[in-house]
Amino acid sequence: MRILFVTSEAFPLIKTGGLADVSGSLPAALQTLDADVRILIPGYPAVLEKLVNPKFLTTISNLPNIGSINLIQGEMPETKVPVIAIESTGLYQRDGGPYVDATGKEWEDNPTRFGTLSLVAAILSNEQSPLKDWIPEITHCNDWQSGLTPAFMHFMSAARTQMKQAKSVLSIHNLAFQGCYHADWVARLGLPAESYQMNGLEYYGQLSFLKAGVFYADGLSTVSPTYAKEIQTEAYGFGMQGLLKARGKEIHGILNGLDTNEWNPATDPYLAAHYDVKKITGKQAVKADLQAKLKLNIDAKAPLLGVVSRLTHQKGLDMLLACAETIINGNDCQLAVLGSGETAFEEGFCDLAMRFPGKVSVTIGYNEALSHQIMAGCDIFIMPSRFEPCGLNQMYGLRYGTPPVVTNTGGLADSVQDSNDESIKDKSATGFVMPKATPEELLSATERALRYYRDEKTWEEIQKNGMRQQLDWTKSAQAYMTMYEGFLKK
Ligand code: ADP
Repeated sequence: MRILFVTSEAFPLIKTGGLADVSGSLPAALQTLDADVRILIPGYPAVLEKLVNPKFLTTISNLPNIGSINLIQGEMPETKVPVIAIESTGLYQRDGGPYVDATGKEWEDNPTRFGTLSLVAAILSNEQSPLKDWIPEITHCNDWQSGLTPAFMHFMSAARTQMKQAKSVLSIHNLAFQGCYHADWVARLGLPAESYQMNGLEYYGQLSFLKAGVFYADGLSTVSPTYAKEIQTEAYGFGMQGLLKARGKEIHGILNGLDTNEWNPATDPYLAAHYDVKKITGKQAVKADLQAKLKLNIDAKAPLLGVVSRLTHQKGLDMLLACAETIINGNDCQLAVLGSGETAFEEGFCDLAMRFPGKVSVTIGYNEALSHQIMAGCDIFIMPSRFEPCGLNQMYGLRYGTPPVVTNTGGLADSVQDSNDESIKDKSATGFVMPKATPEELLSATERALRYYRDEKTWEEIQKNGMRQQLDWTKSAQAYMTMYEGFLKK
């Protein structure tokens, strides 16, 4: 099966969050199931630099706003999955992040940058493609950045009814980001004026890239079974619940897997010592190394709580700020935070670190090595998200013997089993689930975790239950293949 996997980020080429992890590992997992996958991605400087064996493929001209772009084909550094990068000096060759500039402001030309990604994907998805020898059967789009692809594909096939074209699939990794822009962009991106209506591209008076994808894609999926249900409700639907409910039966909820080579406490090159489920003692050495690195008191007995996260409202860390002092004072524990995001959160955590020297460490920024070290060196991982499509960090926590405290939502609900007498007895306990997203519940769940932590034998059982979970891509990649096959039969 030929699959074009369209994404705005893919680890290790470029990463801002979980989408990159999925785009880095799902195509590789599909490849092991004999799928012929190619990743299509904007040619940001980091992508062009890291691409292995890059070769010029072709030029595509007459694109709205930008004229022509080049396609460069190379390979992913380790997995060797083929990658097609869109090279355009005007669109992608600049410092800053994929979506925002160095000051955190969204790039003004994002509609063109990701409209072009979407349009190029559509151009490559039918028999008129300039890549004559490789026409995909499935074009798998991800999030709003490639959300216009199914719309472009729809209009292209409407213009040439006999044309052979791939089936389009859109995966929603986070419904909160909808790519909404002024209605002018419909014409500016070369989309037909009549498509700007409720049954089309219009979304509350704007053009929404994500809604376009949800409306026009042949198939839809999201990254956990619980989130697939939640997004059809007012509480989690971000205004799109009506349309999502109308397509409800078609939404596949497939839990993300992990790149278990990249995230393996037995071999992780970022760690000072290694361990596995049979012999977990190395975790103590990683903890001591982390405490030293972060200038925390080196104390094997002090429970160390960890956070690696975007610091945003979604991640619920205001709840942690509200109860951190009580947790730290009442339990003689430590906290290590790594993340960046909204100023109020960054300042709140920095203030906490100043008030608790030796007990709280806060690192603002993005740091791949430290994220692994926190995951391994901490005792308990804190992730009180208000909503969480899938979430990877709680699963990294499970794999690294760092039981997570989580809210009962989305992929957190699907991947963490609360610890209680019953689940400890049947060896299914892996973490601590808050029934509601409130600071009181976070405090109570964390204190519950800390009580178990003090009972060394039970704690080790909870750690090992988590470490034994099958979290790799095998099952999920198979579920994607089954889903694609279903779309092809339609
Ligand atoms: P989201 O995609 O919503 O940000 P996920 O839990 O799905 O959340 O994935 C987050 C990914 O980004 C994980 O791989 C996590 O380790 C990583 N990450 C988040 N913030 C940082 C940071 N400041 N430094 C390093 N890695 C980070």
